Amino acid sequence: MTVNWFGARVDLAMPVWAFALGSAAFLISVCCTAGIVLARKNYVCRVCGKAFRARWYRIILAPQHNGDRFLFCDSCGCKSWCARAK
Ligand SMILES: [Zn+2]
Repeated sequence: MTVNWFGARVDLAMPVWAFALGSAAFLISVCCTAGIVLARKNYVCRVCGKAFRARWYRIILAPQHNGDRFLFCDSCGCKSWCARAK
C-alpha cells in the first residue's frame, strides 16, 4: 500500500486489510469509550419528565440532534428526544 501523506511516497509494509482492520478497531474503541462516558449521565424524558440512564450501546446507536438523543424511556415506555441532564 502506497500513501502520500508526508510529501514523499511512503510504502507501508502492511496489507490493505490490516490497515482497514486497524482503522475499524480504532473507530469502534472510540465509539465504545464515548458511549460508556455518556452512559454515566442522566437523560430526561420529554413525555413523562423522568430522568433515567440508558445503556451505552443504545446511546451510541440513538440518533442525536443538539445533544438530545432519541431514546426509549423505561417509565412511560415511549421513544422521545431526551435531553441530557446537567
Ligand atoms: Zn418517559
